[in-house]
Amino acid sequence: MEKLRIAIQKSGRLSEKSLELLKEAGISLNNGSRKLRSVAQTFPLEVIYLRDDDIPQYVEDGVAHIGIVGENEYAEKECAVDLVERLGYSRCRLSIAVPKSEGYRTLGDLAGKRIATSYPVILKKYLAEKGITADVHVLSGSVELAPSIGVAEAIFDIVSSGSTLISNGLKEVETVMKSEAVVIANQNLGDAEKRLLTDLLFRIRSVLAAANNKYILLNAPNDHLQQIIEVLPGMKSPTIMPLAEPGWSSVHSVLSEKTFWEVIDRLRELGAQGILVIPIEKMIV
Ligand code: ATP
Ligand code: MG
Repeated sequence: MEKLRIAIQKSGRLSEKSLELLKEAGISLNNGSRKLRSVAQTFPLEVIYLRDDDIPQYVEDGVAHIGIVGENEYAEKECAVDLVERLGYSRCRLSIAVPKSEGYRTLGDLAGKRIATSYPVILKKYLAEKGITADVHVLSGSVELAPSIGVAEAIFDIVSSGSTLISNGLKEVETVMKSEAVVIANQNLGDAEKRLLTDLLFRIRSVLAAANNKYILLNAPNDHLQQIIEVLPGMKSPTIMPLAEPGWSSVHSVLSEKTFWEVIDRLRELGAQGILVIPIEKMIV
């Protein structure tokens, strides 16, 4: 029986969410104590746990058929793999930062300066695009300390809230790329693996769609029913049922998280009452 082999970060900022995603996709793993690999019971899937740096190469080589990594690692490693799905978690950005006291104006100010980073490929590409020549100094960790210990004049690193920069006396001056967790796949999968990947992505998309949408029920006065329906697209179109009270209808639909508050405000303006919003467990898209 064919199995799809997926590489997941062993321990770090991607691990927990990635395992949770598989679980929500109905794939349970017997990983009481985290091992190097585990086999799923409810889907032909084998998980191997690796450092995130190694995942793109393992997927290119076919040791793993697919993997979950940060888009930053995918971009940095430049491996021949396909990005097949964006997952929306572990969001961060890669930015250039300089000491707070520095009077930074443009990227040109960094010409001839030393920039410390763990992402030399992405940084060099960016500097080349902008026509700036700087000295890229590779560090494998604690990049944010480099300016204060005199190793570099600027850094290029992962930022999420920015609090690490602030506590090291740095300010963010250029955002170079945004990143989120992504699924990458080997470019030469066999037919069986391709079929399993399609099945897995279908489940993952259903989980992500459910997380991004809410089920909404409300009571609408019939004289505004048409306008209310126009505000609520739903999956196909809203469900309408008459209420026992004359002149009113019950409306059921699906709302996207993105436009959620705008739509709610508009519905209230149109006289909607008794609005209930319910989480969706799975959404088959
Ligand atoms: P490993 O030991 O596997 O090499 P690591 O230390 O390189 O782990 P982590 O810090 O666990 O990596 O981060 C993994 C990924 O999570 C990063 O490549 C990035 O995509 C994302 N990430 C990093 N920092 C944050 C953050 N503060 N908030 C959200 N996502 C982040
Ligand atoms: Mg790493």
